[in-house]
Amino acid sequence: AKESGGQLVVYSAELDERAEAAERLGADLRHSLSDGDFHVVYQPIVGLSDGRMVAVEALVRWTHPLRGFVSPAGFIPVAEDNGLIVELGEWVLRTACAQLATWRRELGDRAPAYVSVNVSARQLSEPGFPAVVSAVLSENSLEPSALLAEVTETAIFGGGVAIEAVEALHRAGVLIALDDFGTGHSSLGLLRTVPVDVLKVDKSFVDEITEGGRAVIVDALIHVSNGLGLRAVAEGVETAEQAAYLRALGYEYAQGYYFAKPAPGLDLVSTPSHADGA
Ligand code: C2E
Ligand code: MG
Ligand code: MG
Ligand code: MG
Repeated sequence: AKESGGQLVVYSAELDERAEAAERLGADLRHSLSDGDFHVVYQPIVGLSDGRMVAVEALVRWTHPLRGFVSPAGFIPVAEDNGLIVELGEWVLRTACAQLATWRRELGDRAPAYVSVNVSARQLSEPGFPAVVSAVLSENSLEPSALLAEVTETAIFGGGVAIEAVEALHRAGVLIALDDFGTGHSSLGLLRTVPVDVLKVDKSFVDEITEGGRAVIVDALIHVSNGLGLRAVAEGVETAEQAAYLRALGYEYAQGYYFAKPAPGLDLVSTPSHADGA
């Protein structure tokens, strides 16, 4: 009993430390939001036949005042836990919509057709969220279909307010994607009950192409997607081999380092997409 007691003490001290670290990080996030330590980068979503950009995904970046770059995987869960994701997410939404309006002025019809923004469960369950989205769109003179909201299966699993918010956004004309599809609380039934326009097929399934030379899930998901009249986007494409394989399966859209890495908004104006996607 003494031994396990000792272990318990060590273990709980470790937990305390971790909770404290998360709390500190959460407080830093709060300060950083008012200090302007966040910025947004944009990654092209391209047509596989010609490598041309059709849309972009907005991805938030944080430069911690002392620690420098911290990845979203390291801080998004903290922001979700302490609720700051609501404010941070709204800031990303505003920034991304303003950027799209700027691109339209600067690039005309070479501007991305829409900007994709990741939306957390916590944001979806804020009662005013669909109204905030509408306000941000009209502030920037954007039509609702200029925005795509990326939600995860897990965020809307179990129904309730989160699904209602997705339905409200969809009714307003905002596009909806299921992000990281196949990795969360997957249920194909979800595709019938939730209004979805785009399936983002998770990188882990795309990786199978180069790991085993064949990829059962990406093959199955393009059929599901086509059968339901959805648009499929393959995520995390890193090699020419993966791009060619996906194209042969019938995928039309992809996103990944092979085509373009996430970059600041300005870069899109100065450097056109160059990969040929073949
Ligand atoms: P996600 O929404 O699935 O975004 C795609 C992630 O894959 C991004 O990571 C992107 O940089 C990365 N990626 C794209 N192509 C490749 C590739 O070819 N290879 C590899 N290895 N990675 C690739 P990032 O920016 O680190 O974001 C990670 C996750 O954090 C996102 O996954 C999303 O779930 C979350 N996130 C990022 N920005 C936001 C935001 O503004 N709001 C919310 N709620 N979540 C965000
Ligand atoms: Mg995403
Ligand atoms: Mg994704
Ligand atoms: Mg993913």
